[in-house]
Amino acid sequence: MKNVIDSEHSQTIFSGVKPTGRPHIGNYFGAMRQFVKLQEENKNGENYFCIVDYHALNLIQNAEEMRHLSLDVAIDFLAIGIDPKKSVIFKQSDVSEHTELAWIFDTITTVPYLKRAHAYKDAMTKGGEENISVGLFNYPMLMAADILLYDTDIVPVGQDQKQHIEFARDTAEKFNRIFPTQDGSTLGGGVFKLPEAYIMKDVETVPGIDGQKMSKSYNNTISLFASDEEIEKSVLSIVTDSDGEVPQNVFAIHSLIKPEKELKKIYEENKGKYKVLKDILIEDLKNFIRPMRERRGEIAKDLDFVNKVLEEGKEKARAVASQKMEQVRRAIGVS
Ligand code: ADP
Repeated sequence: MKNVIDSEHSQTIFSGVKPTGRPHIGNYFGAMRQFVKLQEENKNGENYFCIVDYHALNLIQNAEEMRHLSLDVAIDFLAIGIDPKKSVIFKQSDVSEHTELAWIFDTITTVPYLKRAHAYKDAMTKGGEENISVGLFNYPMLMAADILLYDTDIVPVGQDQKQHIEFARDTAEKFNRIFPTQDGSTLGGGVFKLPEAYIMKDVETVPGIDGQKMSKSYNNTISLFASDEEIEKSVLSIVTDSDGEVPQNVFAIHSLIKPEKELKKIYEENKGKYKVLKDILIEDLKNFIRPMRERRGEIAKDLDFVNKVLEEGKEKARAVASQKMEQVRRAIGVS
């Protein structure tokens, strides 16, 4: 697992976000903020940020909603500071090599292996096997294809995705072993490069307002572009589990946006005064979110620009992915 990058050498960064709803501060601190940091550090390399709509299709099965949510993620990417001059922003469905490669990976992967996935196990406890689609079951292979198509070195993600990066590495190794390249020259003898997860230790799992992992599916989020009223409402509903008169969940969320040293002083001075501490968090969150929300509002007014970014991203990603698929086709003997 990496958490430094070598800015001297060109690296390839890849990550994706599912268009399944508004992003929350867990997505931002756990992963999306690192997209921007890495984009700035990786001056000589390539950065790909993908709107993974075919992953979202497991959940969003309505054309109008899918179109809207996908465009929303593109706007979110731009609003947090992903710069289309430095990074490729594109939709997964615009590059059909992703699903083509996922099929090839399906053929070299066993069912028991995929049954080890945490996401599958979660879905099993929630609804049982009869409610799990084949798409959800195979999701790690599509994700492996997303990452491996671009010879990715580093994948910035939250802790919940660590296992999927390991699956991508295993799949790359397995493919390279089964299908060695004819000349043995590409990437030290194999078609695929092994990627590494980039996970920031202190924000690997951002807690939600109930103390569990913040997640759209638990209804415990604070939206990244929330209005002032929404911020107030979310913070006032934070569950105040306390330890020595410090409300733990309030403190944990607060520490995302304020240095711990400053916070400790504030929480010491206001021991037991939960309402006061929540009010301070509300003000700090409002100040943190407001500029990003306003920037998002401006970008959302210029959809021609957003669509142009996606169009250019599609061309750039396609060029790279189609070359990689040529190597894959040669390696498996269908070219
Ligand atoms: P969600 O998990 O909310 O459905 P995605 O799967 O699109 O959203 O996740 C986008 C990124 O945000 C992933 O890299 C994921 O690991 C990260 N992420 C999601 N929730 C959290 C959290 N609570 N803490 C840290 N990172 C998170």
